[in-house]
Amino acid sequence: MHTILVTGGAGFIGSNFIKHYRAKHPTSRILNVDALTYAGNLKNIQEFETDPLYVFRKVDIRDRPAIDELFTLFKVDEVVHFAAESHVDRSILEPELFLSTNVLGTQVLLDVAMRHWKLNPDDKYSREYRAGVCFVHVSTDEVYGSLGETGYFTEDSPIAPNSPYSASKASSDLLVRSYHETYGFPVKTTRCSNNYGPYQFPEKLIPLMVHHCMTEKLLPVYGDGGHIRDWLHVQDHCEAIDLVREKGRFGEVYNIGGNNELTNLELVRTILQVFQQSEDQIQFVTDRPGHDRRYAIDASKMREELGWAPRYQFEQGIEETIEWYRTHSEWVEDVVSGAYRDYYEKMYASL
Ligand code: NAD
Repeated sequence: MHTILVTGGAGFIGSNFIKHYRAKHPTSRILNVDALTYAGNLKNIQEFETDPLYVFRKVDIRDRPAIDELFTLFKVDEVVHFAAESHVDRSILEPELFLSTNVLGTQVLLDVAMRHWKLNPDDKYSREYRAGVCFVHVSTDEVYGSLGETGYFTEDSPIAPNSPYSASKASSDLLVRSYHETYGFPVKTTRCSNNYGPYQFPEKLIPLMVHHCMTEKLLPVYGDGGHIRDWLHVQDHCEAIDLVREKGRFGEVYNIGGNNELTNLELVRTILQVFQQSEDQIQFVTDRPGHDRRYAIDASKMREELGWAPRYQFEQGIEETIEWYRTHSEWVEDVVSGAYRDYYEKMYASL
């Protein structure tokens, strides 16, 4: 039986990926490994509880014996690695946790997979990997740092992270690269721009603003609101990852982006318009230290090599996303109040 290990599958992108992957690959077994930090929510993937080819394990990726045991038990063929501490603001307060999870956690996964996939350094000369094994490392455009007013990040742009979060992701990218160069480890790295869509933890910009509109609170905007991000719907990201998994070349990096640049202020105004609320609700707050001014992705490698293109128009995607949060107010309130954490205890206490 083919088994794919998805790490961080109770988070925002991981849970959307599991839904996408199951729809596309009905006969694969999905092993979802997630430590259920504050950002992991089993309600995101509740529908899989009755799926006989889906297994959830609450395990920390830094727990080497536990990860090793899972590889033995489930004979993992592929890994798609999402699990990470992902919020820049938290990384400024707690950098050590980000290094520990994002760098050392990734190293544990690489080492355990190496051993189980019986890879050795000689593979690097032949580049012929054992059929079927593959490790997709999901990273971010933030590793490239900040752009000026023009230009785009390509896969060859220098790595220049500016926050502890992006530095930890960049470090994990380099570690993954070194495993490919040194051991012939079969890895593919993706670097994507900002995602939006359903199931995103409401500390991140779009669900935060939507939640504040829903509850008629002020909308905090960093600095002058002129920071530019390139927004991509999470479904487009998941399709891109699945394509890289299937057809991408080992040892390569693939940039994924929506070609859809907006300042934070433009984005917040768009959300206010959908809610038909006044711009007086915007409150400018002290800027984040080290705040990158502009990100923009050149995704031509994805387009030309793998035939990928985003399907969502931003106007349609953002309206659907806002509608999702509006019609899932219980999910939002559960997350905001912390009540979603009780769910694991009820459902999985015996594990
Ligand atoms: P998220 O914070 O919503 O989810 C992260 C998940 O990882 C959570 O379910 C959490 O419980 C789990 N996790 C954290 N530490 C763990 C550990 N030690 N062991 C096991 N599980 C652990 O994050 P997200 O937005 O879904 O991002 C997923 C990945 O995609 C991250 O690697 C992130 O760097 C990358 N990424 C995110 C974006 C974005 O816009 N959100 C863009 C590009 C890349």
